[in-house]
Amino acid sequence: MSSAKSILTIGEILVEIMADTIGDGFNNAQPLTGPFPSGAPAIFADQAGKLGQSVGIISGVGDDDFGRLNLERLKSDGVDTSGVYIDQDRPTGSAFVRYRDDGSRDFVFNIEHSASGQLHLMPDTKEQLETADHLHVMGSSLSSDELIDLNIEAANAIKARGGSVSFDPNLRKEILSVAGMAQAMEKILATTDLFLPSGDELTLLTKAEENNAAVAELLEKGVQSIVHKRGAKGATYYDANGTVSVPSFPVTEIDPTGAGDCFGGAFTTFWLRGATPNEALTIAAAAGALAVTKRGPMEGTSNLTTIQNFVRSHTKAS
Ligand code: ATP
Ligand code: MG
Repeated sequence: MSSAKSILTIGEILVEIMADTIGDGFNNAQPLTGPFPSGAPAIFADQAGKLGQSVGIISGVGDDDFGRLNLERLKSDGVDTSGVYIDQDRPTGSAFVRYRDDGSRDFVFNIEHSASGQLHLMPDTKEQLETADHLHVMGSSLSSDELIDLNIEAANAIKARGGSVSFDPNLRKEILSVAGMAQAMEKILATTDLFLPSGDELTLLTKAEENNAAVAELLEKGVQSIVHKRGAKGATYYDANGTVSVPSFPVTEIDPTGAGDCFGGAFTTFWLRGATPNEALTIAAAAGALAVTKRGPMEGTSNLTTIQNFVRSHTKAS
């Protein structure tokens, strides 16, 4: 029964085009590879869909190959795309990405003025909003007043009928200074049951500046479960009963983009199914580890058999 719960997420779909070489930005002609399907909520949904989870996304794409590439991938991985508007006037969003020597990235984005920067509700969207059991909010998707309002409205409606909300801030500190962003994130946090920050995002929305104090403050606010993603250092789960940590699985990192979204999609799926924190963390850490072994943000999403075999092979070896 619990596995029949449905997840809804609202936010950007885009393509990523990656520079083949490491270096600074895009100031000269260079070899590129792509387009790859992308967008944080889309990667989250794709990972959940691959685990057989009922999941839908509300978004927009252009009437172009970048849009079709994304829709075909999402559909074939089990994501309900009936809430994706096909915009005749705007292109699908895009991000050009080049890694620098130090592992940081240069981006050229076309998201705000793309099809997913605008919101057009599809005929089925109202019903999706009225029937979903769980909303996943990505901080990166709170990019316009309309998207903020729809996410807050959906979060409140889902909570009012006994559903749940997960929230991945997925943000850099600078973005919090965008007008209305801090307030929007606080409103989402007030509805959040499962909080999925990574690195210093744990203290992004708390008065406390230290991790344990931030956890206490979040639990006090009504967040039920917190998962702190720590990249190659692993992940830690907190709730009122205590703390569970898992190390990361040792893999060769090819492309870290999307690890957090795959981790989140897998963790949320197992959390909704009532898995123990240790089981949900282990599956999610495997999904995150597998994600970094593939070039392209959505290329590393995995089905349950792949994840289970990966966990088994690593558990036997140690
Ligand atoms: P994103 O860049 O997608 O926003 P994030 O910062 O939200 O990522 P991370 O902490 O980087 O999230 O990754 C999520 C999880 O994926 C980690 O907690 C870990 O379990 C796994 N993971 C990430 N990077 C690695 C790695 N290099 N090796 C093994 N596992 C990893
Ligand atoms: Mg993230």
